[in-house]
Amino acid sequence: MRCVILFIYNYHNMEEKMKAALKTAEGTFDVTEVEAPKLENPDWVLARIKVAGICGTDLRHWKKEEPELECKIMGHEMAGEIVEVGREVKNLKPGDRVVIETVLGDGTCNWCRVQKYNLCPHLYPVRMESVSRAFAKYVLAPQNKFYKLPDHVSFEEATLLDTFSVCMHAIQLSGIKINDKVVVIGAGPIGLAQLQLAKACGADVLITDIVDSALELAKELGADMVVNTKDKDAYDAVMQFTDYRGADISFECAGGPTMEQTLEQATHYARIGGKVVIVGGFDKGKTSISLEWQRIQMGEIKLIPSASYSYWDIYPEMQMCLDLLAKGKINAKKMITHSFSLDEINKAFETAEDKQHTGAVFVALTI
Ligand SMILES: [Zn+2]
Repeated sequence: MRCVILFIYNYHNMEEKMKAALKTAEGTFDVTEVEAPKLENPDWVLARIKVAGICGTDLRHWKKEEPELECKIMGHEMAGEIVEVGREVKNLKPGDRVVIETVLGDGTCNWCRVQKYNLCPHLYPVRMESVSRAFAKYVLAPQNKFYKLPDHVSFEEATLLDTFSVCMHAIQLSGIKINDKVVVIGAGPIGLAQLQLAKACGADVLITDIVDSALELAKELGADMVVNTKDKDAYDAVMQFTDYRGADISFECAGGPTMEQTLEQATHYARIGGKVVIVGGFDKGKTSISLEWQRIQMGEIKLIPSASYSYWDIYPEMQMCLDLLAKGKINAKKMITHSFSLDEINKAFETAEDKQHTGAVFVALTI
């Protein structure tokens, strides 16, 4: 079924229609013209999206029949330029180059009130209806969701800040310390960002994956040891790496359908008194994964789920990542392996999905 496009003439925007990729019934995309968003709230901002990213979360919806997402604009990693600001907006003006945070809660619940909006019970419906719309030409968001880019940070690099921010939240929850022995499971965008932040904290990092090209990149980004777990378990390597204690912290960064093995591995690799941080996402409705519960209990191994990002103390986690990127303490550029135009979005998703053959890590869409 083709999506029915609503066309309403509006007097406020420069353009009434915009190009966007809408999710089809089969879970692919249809690039078409839709109504452009209109600036109505006095403290919101309209931005022209320049680059969007394809994230692991997006891939979990690829070619899935999800009637509730049909004809919706997806995507939540983006950078661009401000086009128009509401009359109450301070510190932002048309032409500013920005990264746009898409973690937006309802603004009224207990968690939103204390800036822990990543835990807002209405996070997903609110995001989907407003700012989580990266695969399009324009987007609207509240003014506090825009972070200004220094001139030397490109839109492509800035698009990875959402990924880094997810990992920054996990880093903060982990209580990581200098000289910690860390295991990262999964060398996709999340795993490679987790690796870099752990290295920036002064930890030694072993990273695992089943794709050799991803592990090569991990080495270039500072991994102390890499292990391909396609045919063998990394347990012996982890033991050697940690002087036979096990990891102080293991980060599960694979997520999705492999969680059954990778979460089990993460707990298996953690030392007595160590921590397991769950960064990768579970598939919807996943309820049963068996773990070595007796060892977890007897060893007081802490399981720490991490969800999205927001603030840590007084700092927006996205701003923290932007600071690190601007100072060259993390590398986003090396993680961008492919770039496509919005018209080629289906090819871009195919490429990202088939990483075993394409070597894709971060796939960018130029809009
Ligand atoms: Zn809320």
